[in-house]
Amino acid sequence: MTLLYEGKAKRIFSTGASDVLRVEYKDEVTAGNGAKKDFIEGKGRLNNQITSHIFNFLKTEGLNSHFIEQISETEQLVKSVEIIPLEVVVRNIAAGSITKRLGFEKGYQFEEPLVEFFYKNDDLNDPLITENHIKLLHLADDNEINALKEAAMEVNAVLVELMNEMNLRLVDFKIEFGRTSDGQILLADEISPDTCRIWDKQSDINFDKDVYREDRGSIIETYQTFLNKLEAR
Ligand code: UDP
Repeated sequence: MTLLYEGKAKRIFSTGASDVLRVEYKDEVTAGNGAKKDFIEGKGRLNNQITSHIFNFLKTEGLNSHFIEQISETEQLVKSVEIIPLEVVVRNIAAGSITKRLGFEKGYQFEEPLVEFFYKNDDLNDPLITENHIKLLHLADDNEINALKEAAMEVNAVLVELMNEMNLRLVDFKIEFGRTSDGQILLADEISPDTCRIWDKQSDINFDKDVYREDRGSIIETYQTFLNKLEAR
């Protein structure tokens, strides 16, 4: 089957069905828009398993996504969507770019979850953008922007509760959405330790890509421990 797209962490292939794609998770990890890059054996398997688990869980909570089924250790089938070039970030606790941009102290608990939009554009370094920018760039209209914010808040509520049960805190995460051929907006891409910040409630251990970004240990051990917790709950 044809390779349609290759990104930093995944390859997308066509299948026999026009509305179904096959996603293969790669053993590659990057940070800082590709500035730091490594091949780490086993990482694709872990993110595929974690994303599949989380999308399945969201479905049981009534939240649909493009996810159809996991078909191998490193592959899943998804509904074909046209990705909206926005990174929708939800933050419960300050960390990462918002501490640098606005001076919030790392660990500051926001009074309510915050939704931010970033423009997915490597040449521009994925800048933070406003809703007016989104409209001027014709990325989404008012109704769609509201739908994205609402869906992001719903995903957050379900994931916060899930992590809470695992004795973890969901600090922030990034999700992406796509449009189906009939114009429906659907949660897409992945939800994994690559795209979330997850902190242990008691210790200062975290279960996310900051371990790699900050050279603080093995991401395979970190992601495997997170997957074990997810499967044990
Ligand atoms: N994130 C992501 N992909 C990106 C940028 C951010 O998955 O290209 C995730 C990141 O892992 C974190 C959240 O989005 O969970 C917020 O990231 P932030 O804006 O703080 O940027 P970072 O500090 O990761 O550069």
